[in-house]
Amino acid sequence: MKRTAGKVYIVGAGPGAADLITVRGAEVLGRADIVFHDALVPPAILALALRAEQVAVGKRCGRFVTAQQFISKRLVDAARKHRVVVRLKGGDPMLFGRAHEEITALRAAGVPHEVVPGVTAALAASAEAGISLTQRGAARSVAFVTARVGEGEAPSQWARNAAAADTAVIYMGAGQAEAVTAALIAAGAPRDLPVLVVENASLPDTRRIACTLEDLPRISQHGLTGPTVIMLGRVFAEAVAAAAIPVPACICKSA
Ligand code: SAH
Repeated sequence: MKRTAGKVYIVGAGPGAADLITVRGAEVLGRADIVFHDALVPPAILALALRAEQVAVGKRCGRFVTAQQFISKRLVDAARKHRVVVRLKGGDPMLFGRAHEEITALRAAGVPHEVVPGVTAALAASAEAGISLTQRGAARSVAFVTARVGEGEAPSQWARNAAAADTAVIYMGAGQAEAVTAALIAAGAPRDLPVLVVENASLPDTRRIACTLEDLPRISQHGLTGPTVIMLGRVFAEAVAAAAIPVPACICKSA
């Protein structure tokens, strides 16, 4: 095994707001020589990597999907040349972030590495909405799920697991709201289950839509283009009730 020069830090950038990265993550970025970042990481966070070469990798990066194996190889190669290598990922690296593949490759190559956690999208969305995911009396369990299954992977029990948890947060699901709704109802989730959809959590243009599960397919009418989480559970009942109150006519006119 070749001796390596540097260390790779797999850093969570948080949900988007520049001040929601951890102090440790910001400190590591400040002394990075090279940063490999996801396309979702905003420029304000990349600006913390003052002296680093910046390389965009991953999905949404131009038209190319940079193959995971290739990214892992680049991290190993970079550690042979640079002292501080950062792999910057949106939210928390250990949640739907392909961190496992990269850690495995770094381990196999004998490259020192460390993971710096970040604020995951679900927690930023919960904070901004002012709704606890584990509200006493309503929720004692939370599931983070995705309906996405990678090529060659076995079919997932995501819908059953989401329906079984008191609160569920679905990542990468907004583009297939109809299929997600059908799967959840088939798995036993009630049609009137409260839902809160949050786009661009922590960013100035964030949007929240409260509805019941049976109305979830209608979110396609809102033209959501930013990253979005779908959150389900009784803890969102008040938000749904508030959204259902008709706006008085006089307010509509003056708006
Ligand atoms: N590791 C990330 C998740 C990566 S998967 C994390 O911990 O947050 C990408 C998905 O995360 C998006 O499709 C969306 O479902 C969610 N997401 C990421 N940033 C978001 C944001 N600011 N607001 C709402 N959802 C977000």
